[in-house]
Amino acid sequence: MNEHYRKLQSSYLFSEVAQKVATFQQNNPDTDVIKLGIGDVTRPLPPSIVASLQKAVQEMSQPGTFRGYGPEQGYGFLREAIAREEFQARGAQIEPDEIFVSDGTKCDIGNFQELFAQDLRVAIGDPVYPVYLDTNVMAGRTGKFTDGHYEGIHYLRSTPENSYIPAPPREEVDLIYLCFPNNPTGAVATREQLAEWVAYAHEHQALILFDAAYEAFIRDPELPRSIFEIEGADRVAAEFRSFSKTAGFTGTRCAYTIVPKAVQVFDSNGEPHALHTLWNRRHNTKFNGVAYPVQRAAEARFSEQGKREVAELISYYLGNARIIREAVAKIGYRCTGGENSPYIWVQTGGSAWEFFDRILSKAGVVVTPGIGFGPSGEGHVRISAFNDREKVEQAMERITSAL
Ligand SMILES: *Cc1c(COP(=O)(O)O)cnc(C)c1O
Repeated sequence: MNEHYRKLQSSYLFSEVAQKVATFQQNNPDTDVIKLGIGDVTRPLPPSIVASLQKAVQEMSQPGTFRGYGPEQGYGFLREAIAREEFQARGAQIEPDEIFVSDGTKCDIGNFQELFAQDLRVAIGDPVYPVYLDTNVMAGRTGKFTDGHYEGIHYLRSTPENSYIPAPPREEVDLIYLCFPNNPTGAVATREQLAEWVAYAHEHQALILFDAAYEAFIRDPELPRSIFEIEGADRVAAEFRSFSKTAGFTGTRCAYTIVPKAVQVFDSNGEPHALHTLWNRRHNTKFNGVAYPVQRAAEARFSEQGKREVAELISYYLGNARIIREAVAKIGYRCTGGENSPYIWVQTGGSAWEFFDRILSKAGVVVTPGIGFGPSGEGHVRISAFNDREKVEQAMERITSAL
């Protein structure tokens, strides 16, 4: 076996949460438990997307319009729509052939690390979406796990002191994982903050892997939705985006990765190579493309009707987020996120699990203990806006009277 797998920590978080909820439900059969711990969308696919999906399925049933394997990188119609609508319209010069369509950002981020050397210095957020860390552990880039930390990883601590936006380290690192709007903290980096990271990457010949899975939740026009809105980022960054949280595709599966042709990586002699060529080669060798009907469904997100429907979908969740944020503030807790993000990160002080237990037992509401996302998550819980409006209102009323 690959012995590096033995270093992985089993994620107690969600199984422990499920266990506690089940016990509570058994002892309180009349309480309707409300789950605000969900990291998944809850609203159905918008009508224009469903219509496009159905039309494409129909095409697949006819000899004249049937399609077999498509291009590994995605159909031109989708890559062109993404480049035009998501980047060029916002002043970022990304070309369709710099976009690689895939079946998920989780897989893309997990797969991407195989393009790099073994002895890299990797910087990862704390707290963090676990995929960045675990895939580097599997690949053997870490040592032992002690006190919540892997040997060999540079942890970028997100704390109240830095408003949950870590600054570039003094130390040299080669590969940097950033995620804004952040899961779990909901924090969003400003242009200036991202520009510092881009400057660091230029200065230290580092590469930024930017996870923008929640970019569609950014409504403040001053905040960057893509790292490519920052001058010079197109030489030092790759970006990951998904239709999952944006258009409700968590169960439909479509995402894309942007690798600008100008990004270079270096061999052991210091010779530069295009990152685009490496990722393209990996994609061609190991991936056979996303289902045609799914790519047509994703394309519909950029039609006039699709844009309107997706904006409504996002507004719905942002409305939930506001209700949560305002209730939390009224009770007297500090929090971040919930504006330009579907997650609210609440500073509870003390033990995150203790707070979790209190909210579950007194209010019958499930939140996510921050410690499950990394040691700096202690003293925090994540509340998710992914749920029905009615449930969110009810949950916050119950929490308010319980606390
Ligand atoms: C949900 C999520 C993704 C999306 O992953 P998909 O595989 O495209 O569904 C990526 N990054 C973060 C931080 C997420 O929370």
